[in-house]
Amino acid sequence: MENQVLAEATPSPWTPRSLSPLTPEQTGLVDRLVPTLTPEQRVWLSGYLAGWDASARPTPQLDQPGAGVLEVTVVYGSQTGNAHGLAEEFADRIRHAGLSVKLLSLADFPPRELRQTEHLILITSTQGDGDPPDNAIAFKEFLESRKAPRLEQLRYAVLALGDSSYEYFCKTGRDFDQRLQGLGATPLHPRVDCDVDFVEAAQRWMDQLLETLCAEATANGTETVRVTVSRRTVSQAVAFSRSNPFRAEIVEHVELNGRGSDRSTRHLELSLSGSGLTWEPGDSLGIYPQNEPNLVRALVEAADWDPALVLDDGRTLGEALTSQYEITVLSRILLEKLVAVTEASALSDLLRPERQEELRRYIVGRDLVDLLHDLCLRGVPAREFVTALRRLPPRLYSIASSSAAFPEEVHLAVRLVDYCTDGRVRYGVCSRHLAERAVGESVPVFVQRNPNFRLPADPHAPIIMIGPGTGIAPFRAFVQERQALGADGASWLLFGDRHFRTDFLYQSEWLQAMRQGALTRMDVAFSRDSSRKIYVQHRLLEHAAEVYRWLERGAYVYVCGEEQNMAPDVERALTEIIMRNSGSDSDGAAAYLAEMRASRRYQRDVY
Ligand code: NAP
Repeated sequence: MENQVLAEATPSPWTPRSLSPLTPEQTGLVDRLVPTLTPEQRVWLSGYLAGWDASARPTPQLDQPGAGVLEVTVVYGSQTGNAHGLAEEFADRIRHAGLSVKLLSLADFPPRELRQTEHLILITSTQGDGDPPDNAIAFKEFLESRKAPRLEQLRYAVLALGDSSYEYFCKTGRDFDQRLQGLGATPLHPRVDCDVDFVEAAQRWMDQLLETLCAEATANGTETVRVTVSRRTVSQAVAFSRSNPFRAEIVEHVELNGRGSDRSTRHLELSLSGSGLTWEPGDSLGIYPQNEPNLVRALVEAADWDPALVLDDGRTLGEALTSQYEITVLSRILLEKLVAVTEASALSDLLRPERQEELRRYIVGRDLVDLLHDLCLRGVPAREFVTALRRLPPRLYSIASSSAAFPEEVHLAVRLVDYCTDGRVRYGVCSRHLAERAVGESVPVFVQRNPNFRLPADPHAPIIMIGPGTGIAPFRAFVQERQALGADGASWLLFGDRHFRTDFLYQSEWLQAMRQGALTRMDVAFSRDSSRKIYVQHRLLEHAAEVYRWLERGAYVYVCGEEQNMAPDVERALTEIIMRNSGSDSDGAAAYLAEMRASRRYQRDVY
């Protein structure tokens, strides 16, 4: 009310009536609206108007760029959807700038087109051990093979996504960059390697690269539009997103493991009512966690800091260590930054090249509290120290429910991560944070799309779902969705965990789905109920002929869960099944699987 009174009394200083193209009615509306806006709302509105203006302009047809129009090809390699999302956003911005743009998954980019491409933007993530995401495997193999052509005509830019706590940080992006240069291509803009808190670095890279592209297009005679304020398109700016999370209330919180289990898995239901968010089976929910209060206290004590110290952004040190900074992960990159800001000699000593192997072993499973204790860093200056820390990244959990069955809420299966190193129990940041939350409390969330993990469009297509442990989560959404939509394709679920009696997640729901015909077949592998370990891949091999029959009938195969061991073991089992039943050798089986991957009949959500 106060703002409205003020608005009527004070005409806006920035709409001089003599120069304004607005009608008196429009001027009155603007005068009333503007003083009521917060600074954030004003920035958003200016972006909205810029985006509106740009989207109202005719843009060139994608497939038939006009003479002289700069054509840009944006390709992405994406496993969990981050690189894909950025590529979509950048393609939108290029289009709004008046340039012609093609957007493709690397799986759909025919390598022979490289010779005809002049401007290539490549955005890719890296998987755990430096591997490319699934949709980039075939393209990377081609580029690194002898078949790759010389690319002197090509100008390109690479944005690499990764996690600096892994040794092969951003390796896939680095490999692409090096190889493209090796083939004679010229960088349009330097590669940027983004850590888990990639949003700002990626936005800066896009801003600068867009400037370069626009300058080049202008030099070629193309009229371009600078959309500098609106980084996202209008509809995206208003929605809840990674950078504008929705506070979702927890409406259900249940332990899934039975009494006596050595694991704890929580079934959580979160209300997204009123958020406007939408999701599909295969998508994940991103959650911003907080660090455990006991760990923050231990860190402050180990360093002899004052938690009430006020930092430059107005937060106290205690608040920042709780919800802003990552304090549980050590990496070489972090230690190098800490040396630069603290000049602690014990740290630089640990970074000496001859201690590389020792450092690699030391950082596994240890955190900042260990580091401060072990290197006697008590008294290091807090302000400088925190500038070296990474932002606490959101964690992604596969959504375990279908919006067709539960329109207003998402369900998650979250396993509590805990382990002991150096005599201290440590917890997974987000699983612990969620495990401590009661019904009625809320957490900041966003939906992370994963177009690489989708049910077949054909409701009659058979599906095989392989999901040990919490890898079962997205398949609960798949089965619910197919049941809600009346899809009649056959479905086969393979689940594994430690013990039948205590760890059979959602057991009664699967039995009910079988009775109702929503699930055609289920095989289970409980690894610790017998003297010999039984895993899901053993079940696949036991039923090799049947699995192969399903594959030959066009079945889609989905794998979700642990990346390092389970996913490659399952792939080996599938290869073995194809070899045994088709009579082909290992190359033939690899080609069979590659074909399935290319036609999206082999999809994995593994990490
Ligand atoms: P887990 O530790 O993977 O254990 C599940 C079962 O898999 C156990 O019986 C385990 O047996 C067995 N297993 C161990 N090694 C295996 C191998 N090489 N091949 C096949 N099975 C093997 O279960 P979890 O704790 O639920 O972890 C699942 C993984 O999925 C995590 O890496 C998680 O990050 C990931 N994930 C979670 C979600 C989610 O939404 N929650 C989604 C996607 C992926 P033993 O322990 O007896 O050896």
